[in-house]
Amino acid sequence: MSADSPFTEFVQPQMGRVLTALGLDVEYERAEGNTLHHRDDQGEPVPVLDLMGGYGSLIFGHNHPEIVAHAKELLDQNRAVHAQFSLRGEAGRLGAALSDAVRRETSVKEPYLATFGNSGAEAVEAAVKHAELVRVRRAAALADETAAHAEAAREAVRRGAAVVDPDAFQLPAVQGHAAPADGIEGLLSAVGAHNAAALATRPLFLALERSFHGKLVGSVQLTYNSGFRAPFQNLGTRVRFVPMDRLELLDRIAEDERVVLLDTEVADGQVRVVERDFPVITAFLVEPVQGEGGIHALTTEAGRAIRLFCNRVGTALIIDEVQSGMGRCGAFLASSLIGLRGDYYTLSKSLGGGLAKISAMLVRRSLYQGEFDLIHSSTFAMDDFSSSVARKVVEMLEADDGAVYRQVTERGERLAGMLADLRSAYPDIIEDIRGKGLFLGVQLRDQGTARSMVLRGSAYTGSLGYLLSGYLLRQERIRIAPTGSAGNVLRIQPSAYITDVEIEKLRGALDRLCRILRYEDTLHLVHP
Ligand code: PMP
Repeated sequence: MSADSPFTEFVQPQMGRVLTALGLDVEYERAEGNTLHHRDDQGEPVPVLDLMGGYGSLIFGHNHPEIVAHAKELLDQNRAVHAQFSLRGEAGRLGAALSDAVRRETSVKEPYLATFGNSGAEAVEAAVKHAELVRVRRAAALADETAAHAEAAREAVRRGAAVVDPDAFQLPAVQGHAAPADGIEGLLSAVGAHNAAALATRPLFLALERSFHGKLVGSVQLTYNSGFRAPFQNLGTRVRFVPMDRLELLDRIAEDERVVLLDTEVADGQVRVVERDFPVITAFLVEPVQGEGGIHALTTEAGRAIRLFCNRVGTALIIDEVQSGMGRCGAFLASSLIGLRGDYYTLSKSLGGGLAKISAMLVRRSLYQGEFDLIHSSTFAMDDFSSSVARKVVEMLEADDGAVYRQVTERGERLAGMLADLRSAYPDIIEDIRGKGLFLGVQLRDQGTARSMVLRGSAYTGSLGYLLSGYLLRQERIRIAPTGSAGNVLRIQPSAYITDVEIEKLRGALDRLCRILRYEDTLHLVHP
C-alpha cells in the first residue's frame, strides 16, 4: 500500500517501509473520540479503536465537539492569530489559567510564568535554557564577589593591615603555582587562574535512566535511549543519567562533579583563602511517569529524594509533564499525585486539545529571569489560535471541580483491572501492568527462548511490540503501539471517554493475542 504513497516517496521512505512490513501502512481519513477511520483495499471504510491516542495528546479524544466548535468560532471571527510583538491577550489568559491550575493542585502560593512553544521538546529546551541562565547569573555573581574580595585583600596587604596566611599557599589549587615568597600578587594570580578555569566548567544536567525529553539538538542529549542520542552526543549538553532506583548515587555524582571557586577573606590581620561551591549542575529533569522508556512511575520516596537533592545542591528541578500532565494520570500534573513540586514544569500534548500544536514551560515567578523573554522566542509560539484552544482545554479539565480527572482515574482503574485479569490468566505472556490513570503499559515477557522463529526473531530485534501492533490493527482493528524505547511494552493511552464496550473489545483482542503467544500459533501474527 505504502509503496506508491507520496509519504513514502517524498517524506519518510524508511518509515514507509517499516509500516508496510508491519502492516501498519494505512492512511487515516477521519477521526472522532477513540475511533480513527481508514479504507480497506476495496475502498470500504474501516473504523479502528485508537488506543495510541496521538502518543498521549488526546485526553479529550479526536475532534472533541466542544473543542472543534471553539476552534471554528475563532476562525469565523477572523481572530488575529499572528500578531507578534504585541500584547498577546490569549497567551496571557492561558498563562494565568496554567498558573492557577498548578497552584490549585500543588498548593504553592507563588505564581508561575509561562513561555510558550510549539512542541514538547521545545518546552524542555526553554526550561533548559532558562535554568542555565539562572546558573550563569549565579556563577557570574559569585565570580564578581570573589574578584571584589581579592581586590579588598590586595588593598589590605598594601596598607599593611594584613599579611598572607602562609597556609594559603598549601592549598592544592595554589601549590605549584605560587609560593610564600610570591606574596599577595602570587597568591591572587594562582587564585585567579584557578577561578578562570572553574568558571569555564561545562554545566551538567541530571536525568533519569530510561528518560525521554525530546529529540531536538538540546533535548535529545537528555533522552536516555542511545539509538536516538548517540549519533548527536558531540553536539552539546553534558548529561549524567541516574537509575530511578539508585538515587543514593546522586551524592556521589555531586561530589565527583564538585567545582569550587577560591575566595579570599581578610580577618584578624590575615588573608586566607576559602572554597566556595561553584554551581555546576544546571538542572535535574524528571518525568513523574516515564512514558517512552516503558511506563515507569516515580515513587513518592524517589520524588522526595530528588527534591531534597536539588535543594541540597541548589539546582533546579524540571518536571517534564509533556506526556504525564494535562489530566493523563488523573490530575493536572502527575507529579502532584506523589507530592512532588517542581521549579519548572513542561506541558504539551493534550494541551493542544488534539487540534493545536502548543507547549508551555512554566517557571516559578521568583526564579524568572527578566530578560529571558527578550532573548527567547519563536515565530509561531503563543499564536492566538493555539493559545485560545489550549485555554479551552484547561477550562474543560478544571471544570466541575476536576470531573475529568476523576473520570480518568475511574476509567483508568477499570482498564487496569481488565489488564490485571489478563495478566493473571496469562502470567507466562504478560510480565507486568504499569502506569497511572490512562497512561498504562503492558509489559510482555521476553520471547527470546520461544520455539517459534517469528517470536525469537522479533525478540532479537526488539520489535515484538511492533509485530503485535500490526496484528492488532489488521485482525482486531485496534491501534496500539509500543513505547518509543521499550519495544516489549504496549502503551495504552485512550481518551477520558473510553467506554466499557471499548475496554471489553480490548480484553477480547488481547485475550486472543495472549493465546496465540502462549501456543506460539504465530502464523496468525504474520498472516495478512
Ligand atoms: N517529554 C516527554 C516526557 C515526552 O513524552 C515527549 C514526547 N513523547 C517529549 C518530551 C517531546 O515532545 P515532542 O515530541 O512534542 O517534541
